[in-house]
Parts: sequence; structure tokens; C-alpha cells
Amino acid sequence: MIQKKDNKIPIGIYLHFPYCKNICSYCDFVVDKNLDQIERYLNALLIEIEETSNKYYDSTKYYINTLYIGGGTPSLLSPSQMSLIINKLNNHLDLSNAIEISMESNPASLDLQKMKEYKSIGINRISIGVQSFIKKELGILKRNHSPNSAIKSIYEAKEVGFNSVNFDLIYSIPNQINKDWISNLEKALELEPDHLSCYNLTYEVGTPLYTKLKSGLITKNNEELDANIFLQTSELLEKNAYKHYEVSNYSKVNHECLHNLEIWRNGEYLGFGVGAHWYINGIRYENSKSINDYLTKIEKGIEISRNVKTLNENDKFEEYIILGLRAEGINLNTLKEKYKINHNILDSYIVKKMIAENYIKINKLNIKLTKIGYLLADSITYEFIKLLIVQK
Ligand code: SF4
Repeated sequence: MIQKKDNKIPIGIYLHFPYCKNICSYCDFVVDKNLDQIERYLNALLIEIEETSNKYYDSTKYYINTLYIGGGTPSLLSPSQMSLIINKLNNHLDLSNAIEISMESNPASLDLQKMKEYKSIGINRISIGVQSFIKKELGILKRNHSPNSAIKSIYEAKEVGFNSVNFDLIYSIPNQINKDWISNLEKALELEPDHLSCYNLTYEVGTPLYTKLKSGLITKNNEELDANIFLQTSELLEKNAYKHYEVSNYSKVNHECLHNLEIWRNGEYLGFGVGAHWYINGIRYENSKSINDYLTKIEKGIEISRNVKTLNENDKFEEYIILGLRAEGINLNTLKEKYKINHNILDSYIVKKMIAENYIKINKLNIKLTKIGYLLADSITYEFIKLLIVQK
């Protein structure tokens, strides 16, 4: 757990940059390929940073610990545009204690010089969207880069000397057989990233991939194959000194993504940009997902539309279980002290059964999912919430 400084609470910042040169077939993020709007978006973002910080950030209570610039493709921003954002954040929120400043990127918009400049303005962690080292698979995903350009970006990111280099891979791409995935993983290991995210491909409603699936042009891999791939991945990466610290995330020692870790620990964070989610003072916010609405409101000096939800004690408790089980587990002391669960849940039939079936393990008062448990994370989480709500 990250410690308080001068009694202030560490929080993160998430900043969303929605533009991409090309929209991938599986993508359901808030994205747009109208690159002509980048300058306009940047101006709006700078205004939003100033106004939201003034209104929602209390520097006597909080300090900024991490910054995560996600997208979209933030590497479409030139280093000088990126530095405008970082300077603005620094002026209004003070980044001097931020230990991790992370940005997402796409190999098609990265080069050595650009990465050197990103580093010189304070970016110390880079995440590269690789997804696959197999050309045919990149084609199915409609990625706009080749395996070789991704490999080049990884070598260059290492040469630049970021504190951490991550890349993302996707498994269960249509027609992928086990051997293809293992060759992707072996290539990844050869490149020695500090951190690796391995996501199971999902077919989100409204995406071109979903439409193809529904019209029978592609078929989904079966669940048994997915489960095998997940278990094999975890085993192979752990054998190579990567810690499996969240369902889809692996890191070398001290290279966990601190920003995400704090979110999974139910930590607070501010959010800027279209569609950004954030959580502060017990309230969850979701910025408008419409780029047009976001831009026009800011330009007219109107506060942007947001969904706002004030969490009650039960909501906070449920989030603790949902987020905790995804990553570091749920702690029996926390359940007792913070959530007033005095009953020893280890005595319950359902928990004993989960332990016997190797879905969960207990370590120093911490309940954590096993690898097999990760495969059933949703239903185990549901069982825990049901069980614990009754005890409250
Ligand atoms: S690069 Fe990432 S954010 Fe952009 S369209 Fe592809 S998946 Fe979506």
C-alpha cells in the first residue's frame, strides 16, 4: 500500500486522449479517427484540467502520485503537445511527487526521437499496443502496424530507458490455435518487457468484429481453449519471473503498474477528457462519451456532462470485493475493521468448498483467487458478495 505523505492521501490522474489513426475491429473505447480535431481537443482538455482541478482537487488533502495517459492513441500527440498537458497538470495539481507517469502508444506513431522527448518531459512508463507478432492476426484485428514495427518500438523504448516498458497482447483471436499463441508469448519473453498485459479477446456489441461473429464470418474460440491458454500463459510467465498480479497483468519485480494497482485497491483518482472515469471523495464520475458534446460545452464555457454516483457504504463494500478479488485479494482484517464483518467467513461452507476446489487461497489473512479461480472470477465474486452482505 502506498503511504501517505505529510498526512496527505496519494491519488492518481487518468487522462483520456481519444484519437486513433485507424479504428481496430475489436475496439469499443471512446475513440475517433478525425485527427483534424486534435488541436481543438487539446485546447479543450487544457481548459478542463484547469476548471476541474480548481473545483474538485484539494491540495491540503491530496497529492498526485501517478498519472496515466490512455486512449485512443496518445502517441499521436507530439512531445511538445504532450508537454503542454503535463505542464498544465503540473501547474494545477503539482506532479512533483508523481512516481509514475505512464502513456499508451501505438507502434505506428512511435520513433526513437519521439520517445526520447517523451522521456525528457517526464514520461517514465510506456505501454505499447502490440497485440500479436503474427501478421495475419494483426490483419484480423485491423491493427495499422506490422509485427516488425512493434518489435522495433519495443527495442527503442528499452534503449530510451523508461523505468518500465509494457506491451499488450491479445489471445483467442479467431482461428488462433494454441501454437500461435505460444509463439506470441515466446516472442514476448525474448523481448523481455518489464510488464506484460495479456487480454482475452472480447466481442463487444457494435464493433466490426462482433458483426462478423453474428453473421457467421468468424467463429469464437471455445471456452476450454481460452481457459487452457490462460493457465498456460500464467505458468509460462511465472516460470520466467513475471508475477501474475491481476487477472490479465504480469510484471517483473517492482514493475507493477502503480496507477492501476491503486485503482484496484479502491484508491481515488481524478479524470480528464472525454469518457474519463474518476473517483474522488466517495463519488464516481464518468465524463460525457460524446466528443462533440465535450468540445462544444467546453468551448461555450459550460461544464461538461457527467454521470455522477455517490457511493453508499454497501456500494463501497461491493467495490472492495470486486476490485480486490481481481488483484491483491480481500483482507480479513479490512473486512472486520472497515466493513464490520465480524463473522469468520473461513468457517462458512461455501468458502471451505472454494478452498477445497482450489479456487481461492488464504495467505496471512488475505483471500486471493488462484489461477483456476481467476477463470471463474465473476461467479466467485458474486458468491462472496452474497455471503458477506448477509453477514453485514
Ligand atoms: S489503437 Fe487502441 S484505442 Fe485505438 S482503435 Fe485500436 S484498440 Fe481502439
